[in-house]
Amino acid sequence: MKGVEYGRRHMPKEEPVKWRVQKNLESFACVGAECEDTCCKGWEIGIDRESYQLYRGTKGEFGRRLFRGIDHRKRRFRLKGRVCAFLNKEGFCDIYKELGRAGMCRECREYPRHREDYGRVQEWMLSLSCPEAARIILGDKGQGAWQEQIKNKNGQGFPGISVDEKLLGDLEELRKTMVCLLKDRSLDWGERLALLLALAYDFDKYQGSDAAGCSCSKQRLRRFPGQETEQMIRMAAWMRLMGRMEPVLPDWGRKLERMCRSLYHRQSMEEQGKLRRKFALEVKALEPEWENLALYFVNTYLLGAVYDRDVYGKVKFVVFSVLMIREWCLFRYKATGRVSREEMAQAAYRYAREVENSDRNLELLEHEFAKNLLFGFSEMLRALPD
Ligand code: SF4
Repeated sequence: MKGVEYGRRHMPKEEPVKWRVQKNLESFACVGAECEDTCCKGWEIGIDRESYQLYRGTKGEFGRRLFRGIDHRKRRFRLKGRVCAFLNKEGFCDIYKELGRAGMCRECREYPRHREDYGRVQEWMLSLSCPEAARIILGDKGQGAWQEQIKNKNGQGFPGISVDEKLLGDLEELRKTMVCLLKDRSLDWGERLALLLALAYDFDKYQGSDAAGCSCSKQRLRRFPGQETEQMIRMAAWMRLMGRMEPVLPDWGRKLERMCRSLYHRQSMEEQGKLRRKFALEVKALEPEWENLALYFVNTYLLGAVYDRDVYGKVKFVVFSVLMIREWCLFRYKATGRVSREEMAQAAYRYAREVENSDRNLELLEHEFAKNLLFGFSEMLRALPD
């Protein structure tokens, strides 16, 4: 979904770079061995070129262990079962122990901070897939605020790419509008998501042309009769689509099946509706958290459209992600009667691991958003909660 190489070309040297960092990054500290679901499990972590050279040049017993613990064809750390081959019994990293912080590969050093490059703009933010980061993102009082600096690119590991500057500027403006919209509590939650979709739809449609008359047509945003039933049917279909994803979480297929059975098959439409209405009242108290969640997806993905020009696809992903995390919380609410920031953080980081951390899963969604009628404009409006 991101990083599509659209119109990249090398930039002349010494160009200044706008360096934008999300303020909430400062609050993050890894809890290491105390972590309830360490990131050293479940993924084969890719090794950057410099670290790989360092590992190949390491001598002695640890050098031999490094050699055995790396899949050299894929340039990734091997897993022992589901766990990184270098995670020790105490829950610490043996590479860190032997070679220090400088010996860790870039991904391990930086995670859950991640950088997005948009030509002369670079942005740093937290990834939702770490449980500690998810708590910070959801509880962020600054609501995803940025701080900005102008830097010289030298020494920053800047890859030297360039993008359509005009489009990037338009996308930055669009993102500001979307951020304001998501924070506007005079609108109900469903209306805010509908307006987000409409803005993206219009942006793609009128991009590059004279946009006079471009507007979020009221007619397209009209509410539909029987909204609640319409919404439940679509949530069930979206969840089933997630069953086609490659499993990243352990036992993903069975977990999803349990969720679908509990939410959509084991109760009548009437019972489902009652549960949803009760849940909707409870989650009203978590409005800032839902806003922060949607802001995370908008801030992380929207500018990526500078590479593929698919703004509408990015916003479909925002809406899909927020609503699937909401369904996940609804499932937990049905089982425990509780919904809090902590429950949201649990659902959000698991969703992010399953979806955001797999290129195959992101590509699957991207394809579905473009081709599947389930993700047409009016179909998506029907999926929104009141
Ligand atoms: S998931 Fe987050 S808190 Fe847990 S070990 Fe990884 S970086 Fe640290």
